[in-house]
Amino acid sequence: MTGYRNSLLYPFISWIIWPGVFCAGLTGAYFAFNSGDHLLWFNVVYFSVVAVIALFERLMPYEESWLATDGETFNDVAHSLLNKGGVQIAAAIGASFPIAVAIFAQPAFVSPVHLWPDHWALFFQVVLGLIIAEFGLYMAHRLAHEHLSLWRFHALHHSVQRLWVINTGRFHFMDSLIKIALSQIPLYLVGAPLPVFLWIGAVTAFIGLLTHCNIDVRTGPLDWIFSTPRLHRWHHSRVLAEGNTNYGENLVLWDQILGTYYSPPRPSSTEIGITGQVASTFLGQLVQPFSARGYRQIIGRKPKEQEQHPAPAPAAEALQPRIMASAQTQPD
Ligand SMILES: [Zn+2]
Ligand SMILES: [Zn+2]
Repeated sequence: MTGYRNSLLYPFISWIIWPGVFCAGLTGAYFAFNSGDHLLWFNVVYFSVVAVIALFERLMPYEESWLATDGETFNDVAHSLLNKGGVQIAAAIGASFPIAVAIFAQPAFVSPVHLWPDHWALFFQVVLGLIIAEFGLYMAHRLAHEHLSLWRFHALHHSVQRLWVINTGRFHFMDSLIKIALSQIPLYLVGAPLPVFLWIGAVTAFIGLLTHCNIDVRTGPLDWIFSTPRLHRWHHSRVLAEGNTNYGENLVLWDQILGTYYSPPRPSSTEIGITGQVASTFLGQLVQPFSARGYRQIIGRKPKEQEQHPAPAPAAEALQPRIMASAQTQPD
């Protein structure tokens, strides 16, 4: 597989994959949103993009060792279905979870004041919506890294030993609910229309898939605008100063404004993971954050009973994995 790397076409394909897959996904979404069944056709497009990314992961991986199974594939898929597909499976209509929430919730909200610029072209309305939603996504993500009470849910996403397209949806459902609330409620309050929610959902879906892909993509100046695989791999680093950066989900605007943007001129880390311990089964992972014992496992502390006669004190970073971000996240 690595023989491809010497091909003349390899650099060209590396450059074209990210914008190509993103634009193809959005084009598919355009047709889906103009069809009689938005949700069904959006799902067809979504899973087609998953298949294309999975193929390129085999052909030109960023990290060859991440192709090997880690025993977490079932859990990754199960969390993805719960987060992104639970609603439509229950309703037998299909779609991503945020889109489904928007379809039902958006018409129910009536904004007290009409602030939304309906007269703008839809493209600019979507860009405005993305910037507003991104602030909620950024805050939810940053708080999840800086507060143990929220890290207990977000740790599941960071507990993987490899990044690939299938762990895109590996989030605890509480983590997802907080993100959806903080990103969508401000848009409801300013009266954003349904098409804006649909397009934000589409952009988030495709950027999310690309962000976690194990493809040797080159993104260059795109790193200044979007959350790209290169930036997001730094975010998954085991090193606190690297991991508590790049919180943006779609855009990196708020990272740049609020000082958490991190893009050093070297290949991003493949040393990913957390210090704590996440349960091995799907159900175990769902309930673990809600018990005191599970919480201590997640944050890397010993069970309480073993602390009665403490042995040598654990290292400070083992006690507070990935926390104390503000003191340690200054990009170098
Ligand atoms: Zn994170
Ligand atoms: Zn991630």
